[in-house]
Amino acid sequence: PASPAHGANSPAARDIAHVLHPYTDQKAHREKGPLIITGGKGVRVTDEAGREYIETVAGLWCASLGFENERLVRAATEQMRKLPFYHAFTGRSHMPMIELAEMLIERAPVPMSKVFFANSGSEANDSALKMIWYVNNARGRPQKKKVIARKKGYHGVTIASASLTGLPANHKLFDLPIAGILHTETPHFYHEGRPGESEEDFATRLAEELDAMIVAEGPETVAAFFAEPVMGAGGVIVPPATYFEKIQAVLRKHDVLLVADEVICGFGRTGNYWGSQTMGMRPDILTCAKALSSSFLPISAVMVNERVFEALAEGSHQIGTWGHGFTYSGHPVSAAVAVETLKIYDEQDLVAHAAEVGALMQRRLRERLNDHPLVGEVRGVGLVAAVELVEDKAARRNYDAGRKVAARLVALGEENGLILRALPGDSIAFSPPLVISPAEVEEMVEKFGRAVDALS
Ligand code: PLP
Repeated sequence: PASPAHGANSPAARDIAHVLHPYTDQKAHREKGPLIITGGKGVRVTDEAGREYIETVAGLWCASLGFENERLVRAATEQMRKLPFYHAFTGRSHMPMIELAEMLIERAPVPMSKVFFANSGSEANDSALKMIWYVNNARGRPQKKKVIARKKGYHGVTIASASLTGLPANHKLFDLPIAGILHTETPHFYHEGRPGESEEDFATRLAEELDAMIVAEGPETVAAFFAEPVMGAGGVIVPPATYFEKIQAVLRKHDVLLVADEVICGFGRTGNYWGSQTMGMRPDILTCAKALSSSFLPISAVMVNERVFEALAEGSHQIGTWGHGFTYSGHPVSAAVAVETLKIYDEQDLVAHAAEVGALMQRRLRERLNDHPLVGEVRGVGLVAAVELVEDKAARRNYDAGRKVAARLVALGEENGLILRALPGDSIAFSPPLVISPAEVEEMVEKFGRAVDALS
């Protein structure tokens, strides 16, 4: 039953009565009720009471073009009239999917060969993992199947992608991770760097630890390494500058594939088209979603290089069909919207814009909050950042979970006209729509600063 605070038959009461919300304390939700969003424009959304908020995380790091776009509406409706559905199984095809695959290959950060489509980031990562297993079966090395991901990495919530994710909340209550998925250290110097260690030394140590893990497992059993260029949901963790160079040397030595999870970083978020470019990654497989369609419709993609594709192609001919795909793989309406989205990114030079307003956001967040007694670290690159709250700034110690300090800040944000997102470890994320203006960045930082002040 809804709490009496929510009027009988109100939208809130109806929500409480029937919706099982993702990532929500179901019992607390009965009391607190939903925040019901009814519309949006640019970087702002409006709730049912008519209150306006800046969406500081573009929904879930995804609505890059903001909350309205007539061109995307037109692309969707035109495609719905022309061909609302077709599938891609057994070699069937359609133009939006062909065009989108071409555009992705043209824009890829390293030479890529083929694109497989799915509907979500989780499905893209699951699909990448299954490709890797299939390919190693096809290559006659079925023992090479283990995958290494990282603590605090986020790769989704399906059984395999939640296993790749390196956050306790996604594991222990779901009996995950599945066997054969391992997690190595997170490259977060602020917390994991040792006294006297430089960032460079820290990166060297993490690469050595990865090397030792692969050797201990047996390199003949390790197939792939999954990494976000910049970790998102785990806390917006930007690795040291030379981290991926050192990690990739280890992977090459042991013939381990690199999968770049670009679900958040892709399409300009870090100030380059791909996070791989910002962080110096040369992936064999790249997964992306979210900004691929500016999230107007669900779609995700897995790009593979020629070497991976060749093994898959040989395999599907010799050992049996590549028996994987979704009803909605490459859905024509989603694909048409994605094609139009990528055209808009190009025409409006949104990646350059993100780099520019991103630099402003990074600077203003640091100016406003670096010296704040409750702020341990402001970090990020491009248009993605996090502000980490600490109880003891000198000791870099976070608050007790019971203090619910991040939740209180999120509530203060709402009062100040901001929708905020708290990450594990009391970090507040910033990943606004790429279309945010400099004036909106200033407004967002100022309102957030006031909310942090109110916390103390
Ligand atoms: N990978 C990364 C880096 C993500 O941030 C997310 C979602 O936030 C996912 C994968 C999972 O995507 P989805 O929620 O679409 O399944």
